Amino acid sequence: GSLPPDPVVRELVAEAHSRYSDHSQGAIADYIPILAKADPAWFGVSLVAVDGRTYDMGDTEIAFSIQSISKAFVFALVAEALGHEQIRERVGVNNTGLPFNSVIAIELNDGSPFNSMVNAGALATTALMPGETCVEKWEAIRTGLSRFAGRALELDGDVYRSEARSNFRNRAIALLLQSYGRLDHDPLAIVDVYTRQCSLSVTATDLAVMGATLADGGVNPVTGERVVSEDVARDTLALLASTGLYENSGAWLFEIGMPAKSGVSGGIVAIAPGKGAVGTFSAPLDPAGNSIRGQRACAYLSRTLGLNLFASQ
Ligand code: GLU
Repeated sequence: GSLPPDPVVRELVAEAHSRYSDHSQGAIADYIPILAKADPAWFGVSLVAVDGRTYDMGDTEIAFSIQSISKAFVFALVAEALGHEQIRERVGVNNTGLPFNSVIAIELNDGSPFNSMVNAGALATTALMPGETCVEKWEAIRTGLSRFAGRALELDGDVYRSEARSNFRNRAIALLLQSYGRLDHDPLAIVDVYTRQCSLSVTATDLAVMGATLADGGVNPVTGERVVSEDVARDTLALLASTGLYENSGAWLFEIGMPAKSGVSGGIVAIAPGKGAVGTFSAPLDPAGNSIRGQRACAYLSRTLGLNLFASQ
């Protein structure tokens, strides 16, 4: 079925926000120094339906860096350019069961980057973006993600510089992939493009529009533009279902039943195919790196709006 009538959805989105506003658990990421400056009280919940209707509650206009959520949409752009078989063969689609920036995962599997949602696979995926040079790849990512969002997304220069100064581990991962012959480009230049993509500035509403584009089979429901094919939208959701919430992806799918992607700055996008998507922002995270309030708000909306993929009605 589709979403309930307007006033019902509006009320449930408001409730998903007010129920968890007072929650104070979780830790704000500080391994990228500037992220530690986020206010733990900020909390926004947005829902965008596949017909373009938008419901916002709380701090849905506060901008934050997209971080790992970019990986979902860069995956879609690369899958669109290269096709299903190529991305599966060259990056992979299985969960690692290990933290997002694990080096051991790569070592234990002969240099496999595993999947596009962990850093190794995300770096490999960014390297596969169309474009000869890194400048072209970055431009293709920025404009591609902007089409998902339906507006021109901008780089947050402060976040970019903070991460670029502190991302030694990502540089190590890129060099390790190069040693296995898994990166065709200059590894440190690819890390730079990846760091830029993670520093794109978005709001909870942007995340909901981006997710709703996947829910709508690749067509942005606000602008009406086709961003990726229906097959690519489906493939992206399949990958998110098994890898979107770090090492808690299995538990998330078990509880909430929605393909989703989280990021360390506190965003979550959760998608209900054919219906719409939820975008949330709240910086305090669980130990795996998932926003705590965001997970609760998504769980509430999944339950009350019937968004669980595995529910028969
Ligand atoms: N740019 C971050 C990193 O590579 C993204 C991490 C995340 O959101 O999971 O460390």
